[in-house]
Amino acid sequence: MSISTNLKQVWEELPQGVRLVAVSKFHPNEAILEAYRAGQRIFGESKVQEMNVKHDSLPADIEWHFIGHLQSNKVKYIAPYVSLIHGIDSFHLLAEVNKQAAKAGRIIDCLLQIHIAQEETKFGFSPDECRQMLAEKQWQALTHIRLCGLMGMATNTDNMNQVQLEFTSLHDLFNEIKTTWFTNAPWFCELSMGMSHDYHEAIQAGSTLVRVGSHIFGERDYSAH
Ligand SMILES: *Cc1c(COP(=O)(O)O)cnc(C)c1O
Repeated sequence: MSISTNLKQVWEELPQGVRLVAVSKFHPNEAILEAYRAGQRIFGESKVQEMNVKHDSLPADIEWHFIGHLQSNKVKYIAPYVSLIHGIDSFHLLAEVNKQAAKAGRIIDCLLQIHIAQEETKFGFSPDECRQMLAEKQWQALTHIRLCGLMGMATNTDNMNQVQLEFTSLHDLFNEIKTTWFTNAPWFCELSMGMSHDYHEAIQAGSTLVRVGSHIFGERDYSAH
């Protein structure tokens, strides 16, 4: 199946209000251009250096979403152009994004990453850490970031009941945080969840941004890196 065929299949499955982040990490520019020509505009990358090279060499109207683990000392390289950072996992990182956004004369949209999986390796706030960070209110002084919602990754398992429960718990937390802190903030409306193997479950649980890579571009070749 070609990239454009795969893309069209995913688009047709998306309900109104759910957007696709085409995760192009480890795939070359030609693959991104094929998706671009088919009409895809949002691409997700997880490495700063790789996203910078692609941003510099690909069409300017691509929206680049950073979906990986972001180190504070690298924020400055993507601040001038990134359109959404999915993986904010500490107040320290949020403050650094704010600082670099101010330097770039921008307001950068961010999602708080919540740890919902059972695996230990996934980054993110626990629900309580997130509640506590918000309750401390320091984030309210950051005028160059805009909190737009939450992001999470389910456990990598074939047990789709568990995946469904994890996504539902993230949606519940989103509702709680929305009503506690963001009732007058219509931009706090994004729930980034769902990858190639679980985006159907994520959509059922209320996802607004699915991050799909291998289902569109094929398997990633890590050996070249
Ligand atoms: C790589 C990645 C994806 C896409 O994974 P696929 O299984 O290829 O769809 C989605 N989200 C994050 C955070 C990723 O790192």
